[in-house]
Amino acid sequence: MASHPGSAEDRRNDVLERHRETADAVVPERTSLYIGGEFVESAGGETFATTDPTTNQELASVARGREADIDRAVDAAWEAFETEWSGSSPGDRQRVLLEIADAIEDNADELARLETLDNGKPITEARIDVNSAAEQFRYFAGIVRENGGETMTEGSRYGQVISEPYGVVAQVIPWNFPLLMASWKLAPALAAGNCTVLKPAEQTPLSALRLAELLDGIVPDGVVNVVTGFGEEAGDPLTRHPDVRKVAFTGSTAVGKQVMTNAAENVTDVTLELGGKSPVVVFSDVDVPNAVQLITAAIFYNTGECCEAGSRLFVHEDVADDVLDGLVDAIAGMEIGDPLREETDLGPKVSTAQVDRTLEYLEAAQDAGGRFLTGGDRPDDEVLSEGCYVEPTLIEGLEHDHTAVQEEIFGPVLEVFRWSDYETMMELANDVDYGLAGGVITDDITQANRAARDIEAGYIWINSYHDLVPGLPFGGYKQSGIGRELSADTLDHYRQTKTINLSLG
Ligand code: NAD
Repeated sequence: MASHPGSAEDRRNDVLERHRETADAVVPERTSLYIGGEFVESAGGETFATTDPTTNQELASVARGREADIDRAVDAAWEAFETEWSGSSPGDRQRVLLEIADAIEDNADELARLETLDNGKPITEARIDVNSAAEQFRYFAGIVRENGGETMTEGSRYGQVISEPYGVVAQVIPWNFPLLMASWKLAPALAAGNCTVLKPAEQTPLSALRLAELLDGIVPDGVVNVVTGFGEEAGDPLTRHPDVRKVAFTGSTAVGKQVMTNAAENVTDVTLELGGKSPVVVFSDVDVPNAVQLITAAIFYNTGECCEAGSRLFVHEDVADDVLDGLVDAIAGMEIGDPLREETDLGPKVSTAQVDRTLEYLEAAQDAGGRFLTGGDRPDDEVLSEGCYVEPTLIEGLEHDHTAVQEEIFGPVLEVFRWSDYETMMELANDVDYGLAGGVITDDITQANRAARDIEAGYIWINSYHDLVPGLPFGGYKQSGIGRELSADTLDHYRQTKTINLSLG
């Protein structure tokens, strides 16, 4: 890991100063609930702190929504639906979505810095999130007019099959891509003609609140409502609310199961984007430097806090030593530090709770005979001591059924397995409860195609990783979820089918 001039204290003060100045410039003034087009206090007047994981300083005090606030927000959403939004045409909604995209782009620099402060992701990656968020709105603006329906005639019978919005939907999102996940949820819901209540993650509420400020004046009052708060206090009543007609959730599989149970109380439609433990399969013909670069990005992008992270590496034994040496070198050259600096490759994790969780997995892995090829702890750098940092880590020697291999660590941790027999390797690659994504690295198109088909997952990259293109559906097999985002399928998840059977005889 790169070394720097200057005393540790000077460099720590630099970081604090940079974060204080940035917070003064970009933390939104209004951090209360956004309901019915107004920023309002929570019914109980309670708040909670959101902190900067780089410095562990408080960034803002945010309204702590609970059931009474969820009730208010759902009522406001229905009122907006009944009085205005249900009468909007696809063209009206297209214009709104394009205006939102423009507003995000016009405020891109500020939004990226805010996201880096609240989440800890490197600023270079936060910019990608912001651009992709705007792209979401543009993509759904592009397909919103595709609402043709079907007709059928049979004798004197004339049948029409049309799609209608649900009315009010509930959307709950995680902390790893706060603005991007808000956009993945809001854009298709609005395009399909729904009103929504969005609950951001308690760790990272600020970019959704800033987005609400930007939406104010573009989207009619009450069409989008944002209720900040904790999962059990706000997410739970939202996802079991009897007046919510559809629940869309992104987060962990454990909470996803609870959300599905909540939705079942009212037989509410539900889509889930959940966790992953995705395999990256490396064949013997690879160009080693290229493979190293792809594997590094697959696991360490966003500090490993990606649902689709390539967190299990299956490397062919013929190239294993070279690939692993290359990975150790690549990690040694990574810049770990202040995510506001352009040079930073790896920032802090989102919270101390997430650091503790990752370290518990590392300890368990070591106890079970896992060897750290590099990493395995917090970085030994005084400048980073206040922040939520974990070293990028490679582990070899674990049994595939160990919890560190089976469960989602959601940190910068890659477990390595060497293989020689394809069938045995593929059996292990599929031997997890998850099935979100997978990566295949080879120049042999036949091998690539075979592996892509054999991996049990909803999204496979061949010779790339993480690049998600609107129009190509994203979502999980097995316990990684139900439904698809980023595509025309998503619009259908936000609409219900009505058949009109007209007898003319
Ligand atoms: P989490 O499940 O703890 O929380 C996600 C959201 O659910 C938060 O807003 C939280 O407040 C809320 N929540 C918590 N308990 C709830 C309850 N009982 N009822 C309703 N809502 C509740 O997940 P996290 O730790 O914030 O995020 C990390 C997880 O998200 C990882 O497992 C990751 O793989 C997953 N994720 C998946 C995708 C995807 O597209 N598949 C994308 C991003 C993140």
